Amino acid sequence: MTKTFDIAVFPGDGIGPEIMTPTLEILSGLSNTAETYRLACTELPAGAKTYQETGNALPASSLERARSADAILLAAMGLPSVRYADGTEISPQIDLRFELDLFAGVRPVSIRPGQPTPLALSGGQRVDFVLIRESTEGLFHTRAKGEVTETEAYETLKITRATSEKLFRFAFDLAEQRKAAGIGPGRVTCVDKANIFRAFAFFRKIFDEEAARHPGIRADHAYVDATALWMVEKPWVFDVMVTENMFGDILSDLGAGLMGGLGMAPSADIGENHAVFQPCHGSAPDIAGQGVANPMAMILSGAMMLDWLGHKHDLPEMIHDGRRLTDAVDSVISGARTLTRDLGGTSSTGEAAHAVAAALGSRA
Ligand code: NAD
Repeated sequence: MTKTFDIAVFPGDGIGPEIMTPTLEILSGLSNTAETYRLACTELPAGAKTYQETGNALPASSLERARSADAILLAAMGLPSVRYADGTEISPQIDLRFELDLFAGVRPVSIRPGQPTPLALSGGQRVDFVLIRESTEGLFHTRAKGEVTETEAYETLKITRATSEKLFRFAFDLAEQRKAAGIGPGRVTCVDKANIFRAFAFFRKIFDEEAARHPGIRADHAYVDATALWMVEKPWVFDVMVTENMFGDILSDLGAGLMGGLGMAPSADIGENHAVFQPCHGSAPDIAGQGVANPMAMILSGAMMLDWLGHKHDLPEMIHDGRRLTDAVDSVISGARTLTRDLGGTSSTGEAAHAVAAALGSRA
């Protein structure tokens, strides 16, 4: 039996449509030849351009369509020149996290053999960890509602037991899956600032409670500042890291830097009922319209979507296709063939995506 999945697609702004188009071509190539699943993709308006045209960055019709979809694929939204009256940028990709309660921001950091990286890795050192960023509270709680006077400004950090419990359960479950699959050693690190802030001592206490329910997984703690250092000095020691929203926002860009740049960093924002898959990067207005954006982060986000849907609906073929797509990206990167400018190559977005499609080959 073939199951059809309704995918809400937000191409967004800047390089967003340039990387979304070839990604959808690759995904439809997989879906059209699959026996057990089909993807029915619907493109929806949202973002800076939509805001300029309609006065609304995330139209209610787009939000409702996304809410009813099986999964959401998003490229990038926002432009530095498009702002609300208070000086903040429109950011519907963040609105979606709050609207759909996408509490777990999953940011894999994986350096493939041959991948450009600022690290000097020796033979046996393999960097492959996942940073989980809480994405609905933390220092983003007062997002766009901070209190600002002529002389002072306040933002509030919020940590709740309910969200933290879901977040830590998600982190330990992921570490168990990675251990079972032979990918990680089975370790979860809680990244906080519990030496200074009571809110983080509370965060850590809830982490320890969840850790006690997973005796097969090693649980430890690290302060966020030391974590930034260790991510550069010895990133191979990490398996699953879990942290607050703002800390995760910053550390995930550091992780992208280890991978040779934002063009290689995929992500998923996952809740109990919905999930958004999108690259970590933004709309890159400095290179938009030139056809040089790296499509790999977008393509890898599409692979994460296949994996998530496949596990959720128990469809091994879909999980396998997610793996095939990731392997195809790996082979293009490892072969140092058809790299875009950010990775030291000269290929266009289309050429790089075409190389991935070619590496996928036909279905065995
Ligand atoms: P950015 O991620 O867009 O760009 C940072 C740098 O990385 C730029 O030099 C850019 O050229 C480069 N880069 C990013 N993606 C690339 C790719 N795929 N290939 C090659 N190079 C790439 O961050 P920014 O410049 O701070 O933000 C630009 C806009 O994007 C802003 O309006 C911001 O609010 C928005 N933004 C959106 C998201 C999102 O939609 N999830 C995330 C971050 C920023």
